[in-house]
Amino acid sequence: MTDASVGRVLVVEDERDLARLVRDYLQNSGFQVQVCHAGSEAVVAVREFGPDVLVLDIGLPGIDGFEVCRQVRAFSRCHVLMLTARDDEVDKIVGLSLGADDYVTKPFSPRELVARVQAMMRRARTVPAPAHQPADEPVDSVHEVGELVVDEGSRQVRLAGASITLTKTEFDLLACLAASPDRVLSRRRLLEIVWGESVTTDDHLVDVHLARVRRKLGEDAANPRYIHTVRGIGYRMVTGT
Ligand code: CA
Repeated sequence: MTDASVGRVLVVEDERDLARLVRDYLQNSGFQVQVCHAGSEAVVAVREFGPDVLVLDIGLPGIDGFEVCRQVRAFSRCHVLMLTARDDEVDKIVGLSLGADDYVTKPFSPRELVARVQAMMRRARTVPAPAHQPADEPVDSVHEVGELVVDEGSRQVRLAGASITLTKTEFDLLACLAASPDRVLSRRRLLEIVWGESVTTDDHLVDVHLARVRRKLGEDAANPRYIHTVRGIGYRMVTGT
């Protein structure tokens, strides 16, 4: 994990000018930054550097960003922010269960990228106190909904006693819903809470991550037990059985 610094970011980008630009912006925001230019280097660097956030280009020499993400996910729970150049890459991020947390499309503003990294870092470094919770509510609360237990202190999820492994983003979304049972949370609201208010990513990302959460919980898509879709609005955690 992190030391006294604001946090560690590994930037993987083969366009050297862009890599330098991103590095400079992140360093100016106080992050400890390491850069590498190829996919194979990136996997090694994640092991050795232990970043909180991995900024990962898709088009790389050797193994591409998709494959790097897959390999990194096998041993690291760092946040992954993918850089995409084309729409079909976005489709692929959305379609594949790679475990990427967010993406930005090139060309992007370095400021926007820094805002996204900062939002991820806040989630990586602290157990998030969802913005909708009253201030006096303890952060490390345990939410029990039926057989589902969401423990924000230990960031563990159990269903009927069995441990469920979620990515950070998946956990944060589930925790938001579980913290406000029977209340509808809009996609936009979930985005603001989990990704950060400055983020302009599209609402669809919420659907993608929650679809994975549902799969992991073994939800019946036609008749979900816990996470209900509220058509045209968002989601609701349902407590009734
Ligand atoms: Ca590239």
